[in-house]
Order: sequence, then structure tokens, then C-alpha cells
Amino acid sequence: MFRIALHWQILIGMIAGTLLGAWLNIFASDRTVNLSEGLPASVVTAQIVDSSERTEIRYLTKDDRSVSWIIDPIVSGDRSVRSVAALESEDSLAASLYLDHGQSTAKRFGNWFKRIGGLFLRMLQMVAVPLIVTSLLCGILGLGAAEGVGRMFRRTILYYMATSVLAILTGLFVVNLIRPGLGQDIAKNAKLAAPVKAESLGDVLFHQVEALIPSNPIGALVEPNFLSIIAFTIAIGLFTLRASESTRTRILDATSAGFEVIMALTTAIIRLAPIGVFFLIAYVTATQGVGVYRALGLYVIAVMVALAIHALITLPLILWFFAKRNPLDYFKAMAPALLTAFSSASSNGTLPLTMSAVEERAGISNKTGSFVLPLGATVNMDGTALYEVVAVLFIAQLHFGQNLPFTQQVIVVITALLASVGSAGIPHAGLVMMVIILQAVGLPIEMQGIILAVDRVLDMARTSVNVWSDSCGCAVIERFDLADATPPTPAAPVA
Ligand code: ASP
Repeated sequence: MFRIALHWQILIGMIAGTLLGAWLNIFASDRTVNLSEGLPASVVTAQIVDSSERTEIRYLTKDDRSVSWIIDPIVSGDRSVRSVAALESEDSLAASLYLDHGQSTAKRFGNWFKRIGGLFLRMLQMVAVPLIVTSLLCGILGLGAAEGVGRMFRRTILYYMATSVLAILTGLFVVNLIRPGLGQDIAKNAKLAAPVKAESLGDVLFHQVEALIPSNPIGALVEPNFLSIIAFTIAIGLFTLRASESTRTRILDATSAGFEVIMALTTAIIRLAPIGVFFLIAYVTATQGVGVYRALGLYVIAVMVALAIHALITLPLILWFFAKRNPLDYFKAMAPALLTAFSSASSNGTLPLTMSAVEERAGISNKTGSFVLPLGATVNMDGTALYEVVAVLFIAQLHFGQNLPFTQQVIVVITALLASVGSAGIPHAGLVMMVIILQAVGLPIEMQGIILAVDRVLDMARTSVNVWSDSCGCAVIERFDLADATPPTPAAPVA
């Protein structure tokens, strides 16, 4: 029977979801309601005007108080909040009036799409931990000797650092070239974020080190804390290698059996990716108006151009020269994972797909994939590092009206690298980490509010780059590993 390849199915799901979402956003995102019945007892009348750019809620209470709220992701004003969640904590009555009566069709459907797409993400989350544990354990036991693990670890870290630095330099170059924050007055009417207290960079990194030693490995599995799980699994793997032959064989047999079953389950879930991606992307396009991009267009372009250079030029060159792989073929093999990363904005969520694509579609061995990918999903974030640099320098341009001096830019580069290592592979994690960089160069944290509105789409793009870099890493490490395994050809006898 004729079957379309999985990556085409996902692409079709994505295009169909985008079209449906965009259609809803264009034709069904405006709604005005005037209510005088079916309201809570304390409210006499209410008026709600909803659009994809902003929402206005007004109501008159029994004691003749007139209350009005605006939900707007960018522009500030009196009694204005950024999201429904924020409104809920300020005035739960206004929030429930809006949710019960005022949501436009686009938002109503959008929220349902999000919940349905969320089911697919839950399935991926369901298999992530058992997949990491069984796969990593099989991989390490397959490496044979503890020395092999150490070598692979060193190479993997070297690759992560090198590509992240290249990504950061690309971001630095592009943001200095385009200068998206100069000559603009976005900051004037922009809504600023509420100041948050950030941890120091040292604290963040020390937490990462602490995570490597889980005080309760079962707790780490439950949470789940990927870094703790990886560290503990590697430790168990290394000590299994030192155990007696019979113990080793028993553990390897049990893990391989578990891995086989989990991988089969993962493969079955992955077949649902086209549907999951359809709903996730439909949610984003239905609820996000194009208006938010107008004010921040140049900034969005700067991030996208820099990400494109890294993903389409730098990483393919590395793939070509170091891994001796055809970048286009490799890209096609990884397409299901990259498209899912794009729609879900989560490298952790995409991990099961990335692992199966690397092993089953790109022909990378389990021992490499299981080692490089789970670690990469947590610590190797080229897209995030690049994005941090562009965003912080953009904010600096807006704030100071000029580029940051060179020494300050160096601080941004270093902190961005460390912050990307500290970011979790979940949606908007990069945004949280950015606070640290802003503080390092003395920028007001509240300025982050300006870029919040467009973060989702940039998150989708940078997550795909994060996953793409991890995948390319597998090919590079695999190549060097194979080179080690192949004994050198004996020199031709001299005549
Ligand atoms: N969403 C990204 C990821 O999962 C992290 C980030 O916010 O940059 O890879």
C-alpha cells in the first residue's frame, strides 16, 4: 500500500495546522459581547471586546463600581495585564467573565487545540525517562570499557562547547550588523515585566553540579531531573562494567529487553506525531496575532537570520567535514524530530523522537545516540545561546541607545554560554535564564517584558536548532568512535 514517509506526514500536519490556525486568527479572532444576563450575582452588566492583539473587559458591579481591564502582551496602560493568568491573580471575577463569555472563537478553539496537542506531548513525556535509562545503560554496557565512556564524554563536551561558541559568535555578528534596537521607540509604550529576583550565575551552575549527584535517585526519576538521571545511570553503567561476568550479562539482558519494548512503544507514539504537530501549531497560529510581530520585526528577523546561518551553514559544514555525512540526507532523516521540536518548543519533549530518528533513520549506533542525545537535550543549546546574545544586545541597544561596549559584549558571550547550559529543555526556559545575563551587564530586568510577546515563535525556532545540533553531534562523535574502532591499515611494504 502507498504510504507517505513520516516526515512528509508531519510536514503536511504542520501546514494544515498552520492554515487552520491562520484562518481562525484572521476570521474569528474578533468578538464583542454585551452582557446583562447569566452573570455572577455581583455584576450588573459587562462588555468584552476580544481580538488577537488585545482584550478589553469592562463590568459594572451592583454597588455601582465600574471596573475595566486590558489584556495586552506588549503595550502598557492603566490596569493592563499581559495574560489571562495574570488577570486571574489580579481580578479573578474579570478573568472568569472573559473565559466564560468573552473569548473569541479563535482563542476558544486555540485552547482546545493546545489541550489535544498536549496529549501527544504527554505520551512523549511518558516514555522519556524509561527510554533514557534503558538506552543509556545499553549504550554504556555496549561501550565495553570505562575508558571508552571517558573518551566519548570528552569528545561530546568538546563538540557541545565548540558549536555553542560558534552559535554565539554568529548571533553577536548578526545583532551588531542589523542593530535591531537602534532608532526605535518600542521601549516608550512597551509594558515592562515585573522585576524578578534572579539567582547568580555561580548558583545556577552549582545547582547543575549538585544535580549530577542526586540525593535521591528515585526522586530524580519521579521529578524528572534529566541531569540527575543521566549521571546516576552512567554511574550504574560504569560499575556494572566492573562487576562479574554473570552480573554484567544479566543486567545487559534485562536492560536490552526493556529497551526493546520501550523503543517499540516510542515508535508507536511517534506515528501520532503528524496529528500532535497539527494541533500544536494550530494552537499557536490561532491565538497569536501578527500584530505582535510588527513592533519587534527587526529583532525577530535578527534572531531568525542568525539561527538560519548556524543551522543551515555552520552545522552542515561540520557534518560534512567532520562526520563525512551528506547534510541534506541527514537533515531529511532528522526531519520528524526537527518538526516536532519546532511545534512543541521543547527539546526534552522531543527527545524520544530525536533518539529514534538518529538510530532508526540516520543509522547512528545506540551507544552514541543514547549518550550524546539525553545529555545534549539538557546542556547543549546552540539555538538558546545564540538567542540570548541577540536578545540581550537588542535590549541594551534599546536601553542605552547604542551598542554595548566590547568588554560588556564579552561578558554577555560568556554568561550566555553558561546560561544556555543551565537552561532546561522546556518551553521558554531560555527566557528565564536571560535574567542572569541582563543582571551581569547591569540592564534592567523589566525590559525583558518587551520581547515576551514574540518569544513563542523564537522559542520554536531555537528549539529546532538545539535538537539539530545534538543530532549533528551524534554523527560527529560516531565517526570518531568508528575511526578508533577500526584498526589502522598496515603500511604497504617498502620495496
Ligand atoms: N525551549 C528550548 C528547548 O527546549 C529552551 C529555550 O527556551 O531556549 O530547547
